[in-house]
Amino acid sequence: MKVAIIGGGLAGSEAAWYLANKGVKVNLYEMRPKKMTPAHKTGNLGELVCSNSLGSKELSTASGLLKKEMELLNSLIIKAAKEAYVPAGQALAVDREKFSNFITETLENHKNVNIIREEIKDINDLSEDIILIASGPLTSENLSNSLKNLIGENYLYFYDAIAPIVYADSIDFSKGFWGSRYGKGGNDYFNLPMTKEEYERFYKALISAQQVPLKDFERNYYEACLPIEEIARRGKETLLYGPLKPVGLIDPKTGKRPYAVVQLRKENKEGTLFNLVGFQTKLTYPEQKRVFRLIPGLENAEFARLGQIHRNTYINSPRLLNKDLSLKKKDNIFFAGQITGVEGYSESAASGIYAAINIFRKLNGKEPLIFPKETMIGALINYITDENKKEFQPMGANFGILPPLKEKIKDKKLKRLKYSERALESLKRNVLPFI
Ligand SMILES: Cc1cc2nc3c(=O)[nH]c(=O)nc-3n(C[C@H](O)[C@H](O)[C@H](O)COP(=O)(O)OP(=O)(O)OC[C@H]3O[C@@H](n4cnc5c(N)ncnc54)[C@H](O)[C@@H]3O)c2cc1C
Repeated sequence: MKVAIIGGGLAGSEAAWYLANKGVKVNLYEMRPKKMTPAHKTGNLGELVCSNSLGSKELSTASGLLKKEMELLNSLIIKAAKEAYVPAGQALAVDREKFSNFITETLENHKNVNIIREEIKDINDLSEDIILIASGPLTSENLSNSLKNLIGENYLYFYDAIAPIVYADSIDFSKGFWGSRYGKGGNDYFNLPMTKEEYERFYKALISAQQVPLKDFERNYYEACLPIEEIARRGKETLLYGPLKPVGLIDPKTGKRPYAVVQLRKENKEGTLFNLVGFQTKLTYPEQKRVFRLIPGLENAEFARLGQIHRNTYINSPRLLNKDLSLKKKDNIFFAGQITGVEGYSESAASGIYAAINIFRKLNGKEPLIFPKETMIGALINYITDENKKEFQPMGANFGILPPLKEKIKDKKLKRLKYSERALESLKRNVLPFI
């Protein structure tokens, strides 16, 4: 039995490592250096395309918990990060060249991994028993076209337009009111009204805040989905006819329509996360925090995810994938990495381990191993494969996607440590013995 992995990035490298260690013969297809993506600079496997940090190491952060889970699952990316570690306070930062050299050499020297430097243009050209598609946010155009034929054009996307998400327990609910526009659609939205003065203060801050510069290959996608600050720059009142429009909303406190309204929409069933509707943005992360905290009710907002607009190939996983990351309509094809709608280096790599575990089980006629939702990896996979999701946007690790704790803990750090403790216990009990 053979497995084909398309893409030797973070997810593909992890998957190859897990399967090869289990004795499975892997053909790992990587198109670089013959054909480059617009962001990669080398032919190395596991190249980091931008920041050299894999996020916080602290267990009181979601990113720290995710990496701890990966370490317990014998992650190649974590091993490489330890080899290539550079001091950076609480962050796990690496020397990017040493990091990707380590991954490349480890896989090149593995007797069960055959690295084939070729672009896969059509999935039908592959004859292996199982195929894992881990071709990343910059999947080549030929493969994207082949994917369109496989899954349908409407389920493949080419850019992210992500609005920020805030933790419910950091919102001041005394400053707003529940209700949908014109009373339609029940109480799915929480509305934060603004007076004219509050709006003007917010507006000024928004149009003068610092933005992340666009990369050349992102320009085409920018016009297709305008960031909130760009809409604002087109006129002082444009937001009042766009994302901040107050029509159809009456503030019960005043009995009147507010001057402007920011709408928050529940992001999950539990109501622990809220999406700022229409707030996709290119502002830098620190500027988003500064400007969006000017919105009444969000003064102390904690962000589970910040807004982004960038080039990103990904599929509608909630519609297309089973919980083991296999394709519903052809379950010998699996997906992993950023293309599934997870967001970030570690998240992509973690999903590669998860897919590989389930590929191995399939090869051995075993039922899928669905990680418990209490674990960060389980919660992420559950998020991206949740069939009830109306609108799907990529997601990174955060505590808001975990089921709430039974006990109420006020201290934020303690609460997060408790989440991590519960996650690691669950991983040790329900996952590690079975992989
Ligand atoms: C410009 C940019 C900057 C980013 N910056 C960050 C950041 O700073 N921090 C962060 O956490 N995340 C960042 N991300 C998001 C994401 O975490 C990374 O892109 C991550 O590398 C995704 O891992 P992956 O394995 O899914 O894809 P990749 O690591 O991109 O791996 C996919 C691999 O597939 C190969 N490939 C593509 N098509 C084919 C084909 N047809 N045949 C064979 N091989 C193919 C590619 O060459 C590539 O090596 C960034 C994304 C982009 C696009």
